[in-house]
Amino acid sequence: MTAVRRTFASSLFVGALVLAAGAATLTARGDEAKKDAGAATTTPAAAPSSVAVVVPPPPSGSKVMIATDSGTVACREQAAQPFLIRGNWFPRTNDAEKQKEARKLFEESLRYRTEKYGYFEGYGSPKLNPHPPKFYAKSMTFMGMAVQVNERIIPALKCVESALKAGPAGNEYHPHAMGGIRFHNTYRGMEISNHVYGIAIDIEPDRNSCCGCVAPWPDHPLCKAKNKTVWERMAMPKSWVDTFERFGFYWLGHDVLQDTMHFEFLGDPDKVTDPANSGAPLPAGAVASP
Ligand SMILES: [Zn+2]
Repeated sequence: MTAVRRTFASSLFVGALVLAAGAATLTARGDEAKKDAGAATTTPAAAPSSVAVVVPPPPSGSKVMIATDSGTVACREQAAQPFLIRGNWFPRTNDAEKQKEARKLFEESLRYRTEKYGYFEGYGSPKLNPHPPKFYAKSMTFMGMAVQVNERIIPALKCVESALKAGPAGNEYHPHAMGGIRFHNTYRGMEISNHVYGIAIDIEPDRNSCCGCVAPWPDHPLCKAKNKTVWERMAMPKSWVDTFERFGFYWLGHDVLQDTMHFEFLGDPDKVTDPANSGAPLPAGAVASP
């Protein structure tokens, strides 16, 4: 496939072709291929509206606290916002009306991401944010791993970390490396990776593969095994996914791509913590938010 920028309508068209032909037709490489394959990433054809992919309410857990400059504060649980889920920008239908709705969702997501996380040249309006996502990039550690992300999602990652450490999940898995913000867009066409905004992370890509992506990702031994669920095709335990989902992260393992390494924060960064619920003692293992 060429790297020529496509219009949204043609992206949908290509998406429909990919859907019709199946993921085996993918020929592009690496992360760039995800865009086209992602067009097939939706829920049942009978879904009533363009917002087809929704996330169930996050699994509820015990109270989680993090430390901030102004003291300890409680984390709020929240689900990913449907208009930010890429599967909803590519409805599994040829219905022009639904495609129009989906385009609106996509444009809304671009506006939202620009306002909250920075303006990336060529995507959305520079009037919405004077700074690029790079301006908000900050280094942090997550479960002992160094990573650079958008500073606006650091509290949410701290909530996940605090919850992991407070329960058995923290001891079930010990990843050694992770990825965060990228300064170039790995997608082609109109779509932009959430890594560019610094709101996506990859946990141990060599052990949590992307079986639905293009080579070399499906060459992973866990992808080769037959009759396995997505949960069995990665080193990361489900408890980690559940914990991330409590705090507004969307897991791309739900996608047909089975991109099990990838989480993106699709919650509201202004609702990560509850300022009215602060001052309680910090649980053992919790880490102060910068
Ligand atoms: Zn990723």
